[in-house]
Amino acid sequence: MSKTESAAWHKDIAHVVHPYSNLDAHATRGPTVITRGEGCYVYDEHGKRYLEGMSGLWCASLGFSEQRLVDAAVKQLHTLPYYHLFNHRSHPPGIALAEALTAVAPEGLNHVLFANSGSEANDAAVKLVWYYNNLLGRPEKKKIISRLYGYHGVTVASGSLTGLVHVHRDFDLPLPSVRHTDCPSHYHFGLPGESEAAFTQRITDNLEQLILKEGPETVAAFIAEPVNGSGGVIVPPAGYFERVQAILKKHDILFIVDEVITGFGRTGRMFGSETYGLKPDMMTVAKGLSGAYQPISGLLLTDAIHDALKAGSRKHGAFAHGLTYAAHPVAAAVALETLNVYRDRDIVGHVREVAPYFLEKLDALAGHPLVGQVRGVGLLAAVEIVADKAARKPFDPSAGMGAWIQNRAMAYGVIVRAIANCVALCPPLISERSHIDELVGGLARALDDALAHAR
Ligand code: PLP
Repeated sequence: MSKTESAAWHKDIAHVVHPYSNLDAHATRGPTVITRGEGCYVYDEHGKRYLEGMSGLWCASLGFSEQRLVDAAVKQLHTLPYYHLFNHRSHPPGIALAEALTAVAPEGLNHVLFANSGSEANDAAVKLVWYYNNLLGRPEKKKIISRLYGYHGVTVASGSLTGLVHVHRDFDLPLPSVRHTDCPSHYHFGLPGESEAAFTQRITDNLEQLILKEGPETVAAFIAEPVNGSGGVIVPPAGYFERVQAILKKHDILFIVDEVITGFGRTGRMFGSETYGLKPDMMTVAKGLSGAYQPISGLLLTDAIHDALKAGSRKHGAFAHGLTYAAHPVAAAVALETLNVYRDRDIVGHVREVAPYFLEKLDALAGHPLVGQVRGVGLLAAVEIVADKAARKPFDPSAGMGAWIQNRAMAYGVIVRAIANCVALCPPLISERSHIDELVGGLARALDDALAHAR
């Protein structure tokens, strides 16, 4: 057995089905088995250390060894390891988390329906939008508009909202009631010579045209991430959300904001909604809610929507939606402690302090021949990889350049993620300048190697 081919490596190939992995190639490539974490670092089974520049999957915001979260989980396991919220039951961590979460959420989001993942929270948003409009007596108002390159999950409804071809192809998605509108990336979709303002006007005009074509009486909701994450870290142009929100208001369309990545300080404010002036009717959170130490998510609702759900119960009896593990007490206790850590250590303030350094360091890569654009906000960024900088032309996907850079960076001990035609970075919110130097330095070396490789 070679160093990479441990017993675990073989057993993984034999039995584990890997999400978002080439399952055919996996049989020979095998897994990188990560066995422990410490601060901003993780270690593989051979003891190699990696700076986790993606916080796992955009989620481990407090790094990998936060004792307060471990203690909160252990304490709750000893007290009440499981209970649920069905049938009027409740438990202290669920109640306390709902209070703490709605207290920090954007104004008006006073109620929360818990779930276990971002996909489930977005799925619930779709169901509740449908239920809400049925209860309001407008059963034709059901379509949901999402955006190309938006990412909202992989379940049947949330996967439909996701605007990525590979999430739909051969999975028989999207659902027929979902429409996709433009991605707000001027770099990728601006016309030759078109200013950013003109681009914003054009794509928001397109949104309104789509609504008018479908019939506003058939369009129920619009969903967006404040900053598209998995679609390539697309930072919205100035004025974009202002115009979108005016259009939604005009046509009486609900605004669902997916804060699964942008929530809890990632953009330098508690929520991306604050960074971009969004007023959600519904908001989904997950990932950073528990620092990823436990699976938990939430769908936050306004009083108006909650009132409609109450009216639904007057009509139907019990609200017939719920998940066995929603608001799992251990997950809720960990999430509550995560919110306490964010507050006690002023994590959002820390992000605001280090983010300019992070973005400045990355900006220094903009002159690299393989870098078409550097974009980001807070501790969330992407470096666009191009074969031809002037023409903004990406590499042919068959060249596998993104994966090559990602693997090279890993060889240098830093984890970044190749998505779309870019390399994404989303380091833990506790990152210090030294971590940023190491992360950007590792990526820069990988880019230099990639340039030599491409020639
Ligand atoms: N929404 C956004 C913005 C995400 O980035 C993700 C996952 O990356 C999801 C939803 C889905 O979350 P989950 O993977 O927990 O189902």
